[in-house]
Amino acid sequence: MIFSSILHVFILREPCKKTPAAGKGKILLSRIRKVIDTHFPELNNSSNILSDSRKHKVYSMAEIVLGSLFMFIFKETSRNAYNNDWRETCFRKNFLKYFGFNLPHADSIDDVLRVLPPEELEELKMQLVGGLIEQKMFRKFRFLGKFYLVAVDATGTATFDHKHCDQCLTKTSKTGVVTYFHYVLEAKIVTTTGLSISLASEFIENDPDRDYEKQDCEQKAFKRLAKKIKKHFPRLPVCILADGLYPNNTVFDICAKNNWQFIITLKDGNLKSFQTEVGLLKVTARKRNVCKADKTTRTTLEYAFLNDIEYSGRYFSWVECNETIVSIKGTIISNQRFTYITNVFQDQRNVIETADSGRVRWKIENEGFNSQKNLGYALGHKFSRKSLIAMQNYYQLLQMAHMINQLVERTNEIVNILKEHSKQTIVDLWKKMIAYLTIFQLEEVIPVPYQPG
Ligand SMILES: [Zn+2]
Repeated sequence: MIFSSILHVFILREPCKKTPAAGKGKILLSRIRKVIDTHFPELNNSSNILSDSRKHKVYSMAEIVLGSLFMFIFKETSRNAYNNDWRETCFRKNFLKYFGFNLPHADSIDDVLRVLPPEELEELKMQLVGGLIEQKMFRKFRFLGKFYLVAVDATGTATFDHKHCDQCLTKTSKTGVVTYFHYVLEAKIVTTTGLSISLASEFIENDPDRDYEKQDCEQKAFKRLAKKIKKHFPRLPVCILADGLYPNNTVFDICAKNNWQFIITLKDGNLKSFQTEVGLLKVTARKRNVCKADKTTRTTLEYAFLNDIEYSGRYFSWVECNETIVSIKGTIISNQRFTYITNVFQDQRNVIETADSGRVRWKIENEGFNSQKNLGYALGHKFSRKSLIAMQNYYQLLQMAHMINQLVERTNEIVNILKEHSKQTIVDLWKKMIAYLTIFQLEEVIPVPYQPG
């Protein structure tokens, strides 16, 4: 049993001296273990009951799923990098000591992920995030004390210069060059503190039986994604945050049907009749101003709102925030305008929270997609070059690993390490952990008791 209280005892030939760097690696390792034990106590059992079509089984399903999950938790960035660590006996033995299970070779993982239905790993991911909601992890970040902020946006997962599979999306350049690619539409719970946790994912891909001219797209995928969220989280009070692609009747209908709130970016070209009416009434808009200053700058935020603006037979509210940042010498550093359409009735008490929540949408791009692409998770790397099923499974594992690591990075011990040493980065801390596992043979067996939540 993984995370069991009975662990193997190792006879170590050459105990190494430990250094402060190793100490940090050890702390990080223990925090990962603690976060999994505390927040995801069902991870092991839930992984073990996933479909298993193998005839010869060297590893349990939990070892396969958790092994692949740790490939992302450790930010290995490729199967080859993972295997290079895996080949080190010290690494595998130390890992077994800390986590109580054997790490599989990446080929053993890949064999399973090429046939495991991706829906099963998504179900597991939704079970994990559902657990965090039950643990009230996001409670204090709710909009108006009730609604979970769910940002929706799409990002690329793979690009090819050749037809990779029948589900590939395609685009043709002006010079006639065809690119084949895969996209995913994400719904992530976002918070003002920077958490960006995958609630549900919907792959944007062509149906091989459909006409080429009718490619799948973000808007079609949103309908499917919304159904998935409602099915798995039927009573979750949701406030959708989305960009200028989303103010349209289809999205408004879905939100009304599901009883969801929304705060959607309004670009200049969006909803012309709505914006014309706003333009006519703008002089009557009610306003609130906020000023903030620090040692070098002064920020002025001017919030304005209008209610009961008609669009297509329905009435919505309009919210605008003008942000001006001026240096202490009076030079304008930046001047930005953020405009939203919302189905939340506006007043002097909630306009600031509405506009500020609308701006939290960018967390899905920054803390979400950018972190996953550039900070060690290698989103966009082809963990499987040929199998679409494996590609989707690796994607779901990446989401789960990022969920776990975000909680780890916010534990007091890790925050303190980063505070104490201003040059200490998260990336470097992860490197120290891998080095600790790979180089330092552990001198004694530390009992690792199973801690059910
Ligand atoms: Zn493809």
